[in-house]
Amino acid sequence: MKNVVILGSTGSIGKNALDVIRNLRHKYKVVGLSANSRWELLAKQVEEFKPKSVSLADGRWIKELKNKLPQNSVQILTGTDSVKEMVSRDDVDIVISAIVGAAGLPAAIEVIKNGKTLALANKEALVMAGGIIVSMAREKGVSIIPIDSEHSAILQALRAGHPNEVKKVIITASGGPFRDYPKEKLSEVTLEEALNHPTWQMGQKITIDSATLMNKALEIIEAKWLFNLDSTQIDVIIHPESIVHSLVEFCDGSVIAQMGLPDMKVPIQYALTYPYRENGNVESLDLAKLGSLNFRKPDMDKFPALRLGYEVVEKGGTMGVTLNAANEIAVQAFLDRKIKFTDITKTVEHVMKEHNFIKDPTLQDIMDADAHARKETKKCIS
Ligand code: NAD
Ligand code: MG
Repeated sequence: MKNVVILGSTGSIGKNALDVIRNLRHKYKVVGLSANSRWELLAKQVEEFKPKSVSLADGRWIKELKNKLPQNSVQILTGTDSVKEMVSRDDVDIVISAIVGAAGLPAAIEVIKNGKTLALANKEALVMAGGIIVSMAREKGVSIIPIDSEHSAILQALRAGHPNEVKKVIITASGGPFRDYPKEKLSEVTLEEALNHPTWQMGQKITIDSATLMNKALEIIEAKWLFNLDSTQIDVIIHPESIVHSLVEFCDGSVIAQMGLPDMKVPIQYALTYPYRENGNVESLDLAKLGSLNFRKPDMDKFPALRLGYEVVEKGGTMGVTLNAANEIAVQAFLDRKIKFTDITKTVEHVMKEHNFIKDPTLQDIMDADAHARKETKKCIS
């Protein structure tokens, strides 16, 4: 029996993770759940999965949560140290981090510090502080297993060879809802159109990131840190069907792809069972029914976010945290209908250009750069 904590259990990944565990109850037990503010759903999850502790980041709803749950049935936590307390328990084996955005960084660090396996959906943590996280994990002997479908695909394909035989990785991208829009029309797209992703059902922030292709930029950076790659070893290819989740090319010319229907339950389950597999509760892939799969080069001119991702991989330092913070603020402004779709990437690029670059930042430097970039982005937007 493996004991699992899910951080961000009320989100799209969190709910899928609970679905996976429902199907694997004989091997995995939920011992901790956490969310930001959706206390009603969290209470329902507690009733079903009976974890030992539960945490709500936003303390405003803690009374409601306490009233809803039977007394002494579960430890109820709130505040900044609650995640720390939850993941440090001796009986915790794996922590799924499905928190969205920068709030996931301190959580990821706590998980690693406590020597627990980190099943990571929260790519923003790696984008912000990949260098620090990866070296800390190496020191502690902690595995970071990606949940992101592309990185799970790469992890699976890498098992076909040795690390020194890898030539490059090829990350697939659906291209988002605007892949066939003419560039001139992009500034006029609506929030509703941007939230309508063609192949994946996800939280709002990552759905907008997928429309700007900033999500792919974040994933290029994520791949650099997870698999120790330089920018020449990471390609991106547009693949509208989202069936091939990514590929690895080896030195002998062999290319290994991982495929499956677009369903996050597959990479979530693999992160839990790695390096083994268990029976899954997902539909089989029917290639004959699909008939054909398409691939084409991404248009960097139309989606400049991709270029910014490569810039972060090449320059490192505080570039990643700055890109991420500026993007979080700009995406929120777009969700609030304060800026146009194309202003998201323009703003991020501007803030990256102007920021005080530090080549080898400490964690404190990263937190400072994060705060600075948020302030500058807000200024820029207003
Ligand atoms: P979501 O918005 O649906 O859910 C986010 C979760 O994070 C919620 O449970 C929320 O309560 C929690 N949360 C937010 N702020 C918090 C805070 N300050 N403290 C504690 N918890 C907080 O998002 P999602 O789509 O599930 O994505 C989660 C992460 O997984 C993101 O980093 C995203 O990039 C990544 N990811 C998602 C998908 C997908 O299919 N949804 C695929 C790959 C990667
Ligand atoms: Mg992905």
